[in-house]
Amino acid sequence: MDRGARPGGSCGVGEVVNPAAWLDRAKAVPVLDVAAALGLSLGRDGKSFGPCPGCGAATRANPGRRDSRGRCAILPGGWWHCYSNGSDGCGATADSPGLVAWQLTGERWQKGDASTSAKIREWFAQNGWCDAPGAERKSVVAPRRWPDAAAEAPPSRPNAMEVAQVWFHAPAVTDDDAVAEWLERARGLPAARIAELDLARALPASPSPAWAGYGARTWRESGHRLIVPLWGPDPDGRSRLRMASLHARCVRASGGGLKALSPRGHSHRGLVMAVSEDFLGDGAEQRLLTICEGVPDFLALALQPATVRGALLGGISGSASAAILALVPRGWDVAVATHADAGGDNQANAWRREIEGRGCRYLRCRRQLAA
Ligand SMILES: [Zn+2]
Repeated sequence: MDRGARPGGSCGVGEVVNPAAWLDRAKAVPVLDVAAALGLSLGRDGKSFGPCPGCGAATRANPGRRDSRGRCAILPGGWWHCYSNGSDGCGATADSPGLVAWQLTGERWQKGDASTSAKIREWFAQNGWCDAPGAERKSVVAPRRWPDAAAEAPPSRPNAMEVAQVWFHAPAVTDDDAVAEWLERARGLPAARIAELDLARALPASPSPAWAGYGARTWRESGHRLIVPLWGPDPDGRSRLRMASLHARCVRASGGGLKALSPRGHSHRGLVMAVSEDFLGDGAEQRLLTICEGVPDFLALALQPATVRGALLGGISGSASAAILALVPRGWDVAVATHADAGGDNQANAWRREIEGRGCRYLRCRRQLAA
């Protein structure tokens, strides 16, 4: 992070408040943190991410060349730039707030665009990285601590009623030809069984909330038409889990962009895929919970009998949380089956940190299960 990266963070009582302090704070948030919060994939080199919000390319590879680094390189000074292997990329370049602008609007943030500026500020405020509009006075009296405030801020979730409405109106996967064909042909998964068990649905034509978008396109337009609920611990304790968000999988062969998306401008931190709100039920006999990675593996395992996989949760990057594992009884075995790559290892390690110390045995299975 830059030196002197906390402007506005130490306002004392009586100090003059700079109205643009939120922007200074937003600029000071490392690009990698912003990219992760936006649900982008972080490169294994620790200084790249993808896909590029400008051109949609996921990695730096050109046809005929291999390069798995994220398409956008992070530059010193809090900037990033789209690069391809051997030449400059599409020309997209910005800082942290500029990256958020691109993801929210699908365009470069033009100076003086107050409407986009308000959206960016809202996004950073939701993530606990700056104050919301109108909060300047409060921050003078009680300055926020930085960056602890970001770590403690509860993750932003899409409106619960909107999530419920989209799920309620979503047709069965067998009622959407593109979704059914992707499941059957690209993944070898039986659409009829998935519909019968109601594990996933097809994105409805309406309603289409603002968060169901990717760049300037709706999920429908970008091909993210297979939706799966994301669950978090039930705050009322009536059941173990409660639906908190949705995860949308692209069903196009050549999307070019992100394979799977969570609601735009919100976080899926600490949320998981599950077979039901009482997810532990079918693992009770074996005292076994399996945690897998990604939508296809989750669907493939959910179709297996419980005698094979015990109880089941599906994770994505950022899912691992102490609150979820606090629902698992002590003494259970927890098998983490993530992909045999760096992303899978990262997720497994994140789960492992939470599993150990809970009196549960950690088992690791390094493989991709679905086709
Ligand atoms: Zn680009």
